[in-house]
Amino acid sequence: MGRAIKGKRPVNKSRHQQKTQAQLAELFRRETAHRKTLHGQLANQVIAIGIHIHTEKLSYQSFQKMYGKSVSVRAPRTFLSIVTRKAESAGGYVDEFPTRTTALSQVCICGRRRKKRLSERVHACTCGVIAQRDLFSAFLARHVKDNVLQVTEAYESWSGAEPLLQTAWRQAINQPASGRQMLSSFGVPESERVV
Ligand SMILES: [Zn+2]
Repeated sequence: MGRAIKGKRPVNKSRHQQKTQAQLAELFRRETAHRKTLHGQLANQVIAIGIHIHTEKLSYQSFQKMYGKSVSVRAPRTFLSIVTRKAESAGGYVDEFPTRTTALSQVCICGRRRKKRLSERVHACTCGVIAQRDLFSAFLARHVKDNVLQVTEAYESWSGAEPLLQTAWRQAINQPASGRQMLSSFGVPESERVV
């Protein structure tokens, strides 16, 4: 394709091209409408669980660089703004905190800190805490206040949260729709492992 020159546009589009462009526009329109529906449904599910939401502030720009098209299709930033709107109108909030100060994927309730590889899906600390990595981060996120993880608070609530996290882990991997991709990204709890 040649470079586009301002003011000089090809005037003669073939009938076939016009038809294809119209079909493409229709597909994009349907994709947008479908995404809006899914975002709304998922946001409602989140709000039904709670209206005080703590989440890591993520760079959606770097997502775009890493995952390209898939990010614009899933539109995570848009999703978060929908959740925020719904949470706030229900009297709640969305608190986005920076990962630089919290580093939830590295820390433990015992205060130890260790960097994990992205492929390491399980948080297993020498203090005996074992949990699915993302669920554990979500548990920790609950105890972030003013951009700082309240380690003592997290430590004190761990015994109550642990069975919930184990159940969530088991449920996630046993969902028929989750498939193999979910398994590999989620990790498998010790008790479910086939030896
Ligand atoms: Zn630990």
